[in-house]
Amino acid sequence: MSREEKVSHVVVFGRPGSGKSSLAERISIEHGFSAIRTGELLRDAIRRGDELGLQAGELIQAGNLVPDEIAAALLEQELRARGSRRILLDGFPRTIGQVAILKQFESTLDFHVCCYLDIAVRPEVATSRMGGRRVCPSCGATYHLVNHPPKKEGVCDLDDTPLLCRQDDTVEVIERRQHIHDENARPVLEYYRTNEPERFKEIDGEAPFDLVYARACEALGLATLPTPG
Ligand code: AMP
Repeated sequence: MSREEKVSHVVVFGRPGSGKSSLAERISIEHGFSAIRTGELLRDAIRRGDELGLQAGELIQAGNLVPDEIAAALLEQELRARGSRRILLDGFPRTIGQVAILKQFESTLDFHVCCYLDIAVRPEVATSRMGGRRVCPSCGATYHLVNHPPKKEGVCDLDDTPLLCRQDDTVEVIERRQHIHDENARPVLEYYRTNEPERFKEIDGEAPFDLVYARACEALGLATLPTPG
């Protein structure tokens, strides 16, 4: 099958607190992508209490990455389950080892990544944003008290579940996650910037959410739908 005939997926990068997950959610809803978040797959595994979840739980809570094989195993399972749908991948690859794994999945699972999109936000801006983050423990939807508040205070727009802070959003763990991100993401972004210049796109993620969304759609070649309200 040629590259043009394969289903095209998109990969979104961004440091913790860049707004990447809110953006990925909105792009998925408005443009018919099926979103896969490896962080959410891991949190699901932890909630189920299975073997992978037990291994991952402590690492995540301390702000560390889980081993490549665990993230890759969950991702492969999920990619197979989603079949031929167009995927928006959030949170993978996060290490150079995972870059090679994704490349391998492209051939074994027969898809093509058409764009690697980086949402660039300075660490200090991301860190201050993370204090305002709230998540839905039921469906995983992500909100921000200032930048992306839920329609009704304190509850999820999608299923009315009361929103919570994430357990790994404490000040100490936030700083550690920024550090770990920088160490691992820099070579990954550099790899795509150098080796895939036509597929690698970077946008400024510090603007208001609607503007970042519009920039992301433009970078991905998607039409921007009018903002509701
Ligand atoms: P996220 O929801 O993307 O912020 O991810 C939450 C946590 O899950 C991260 O801090 C990591 O501990 C772990 N995680 C998510 N994706 C990966 C990945 N691709 N490789 C290793 N660890 C991951």
